[in-house]
Amino acid sequence: MDKKIPLLLIEDEPHIAKGLVFNLEEEGYQVTHIESGEQALEELSNNSYALVILDLTLPGIDGLEVCDRLRERGNQIPILMLTARGTEQDRITGLSKGADDYLSKPFNLKEFLLRVAGLLRRTNWQQTRPDNNYYTFGNNQINLETDQAITANGTIQLTELEMKMLQFFFDQEGKVLSRGKLLKQVWGMSPETETRTLDNFIVRLRKYFEIDPTKPRYFRTVRGRGYRFIQEPE
Ligand code: CA
Repeated sequence: MDKKIPLLLIEDEPHIAKGLVFNLEEEGYQVTHIESGEQALEELSNNSYALVILDLTLPGIDGLEVCDRLRERGNQIPILMLTARGTEQDRITGLSKGADDYLSKPFNLKEFLLRVAGLLRRTNWQQTRPDNNYYTFGNNQINLETDQAITANGTIQLTELEMKMLQFFFDQEGKVLSRGKLLKQVWGMSPETETRTLDNFIVRLRKYFEIDPTKPRYFRTVRGRGYRFIQEPE
């Protein structure tokens, strides 16, 4: 027999969860059931699933927040959102947060199973791989598509210029980059132009990404020469 398709169900109401688990397993899926958004985020960073069935109203962080955070991380897993609040606005909000489909409670079980099957078919789960579109160093993860960074200090939305500078550092990892080179690359300025702007940017990057910005490990100063980015300091 084929390997079962793994689904993650996030639902805090026991009787609903029980019914869904039973019916999904009857259909031949392998179901993991979790009751809170926090647990779900942890589970999804450790294990991979073909599809997430996500209840909107949960204790702690709700379904919208879970959705939001997953997409922020660059996780493209298909999400079917369930809600008791079947208003048009909820539907729009859910979809705008990155849910792929939406079903209002109470729903018809057959329709639910069809939606699950439809989403799996549409996204062809076996081809769903983790998104490589991010760059990591230390405890930092930068999504190169959304320009968002997940750091020990929380999630940071990076500016276009910050991203430009980071990209250059990543591309030139380990190399000493002179101020002139950085200014030219990021701002398109001639090397003679005011360099304080550059120093301010470095200060900011250190504040975002360094454990101790006064003792930078990743964004280092090379005295008299410029700066150097190290992805994996000893
Ligand atoms: Ca609920």
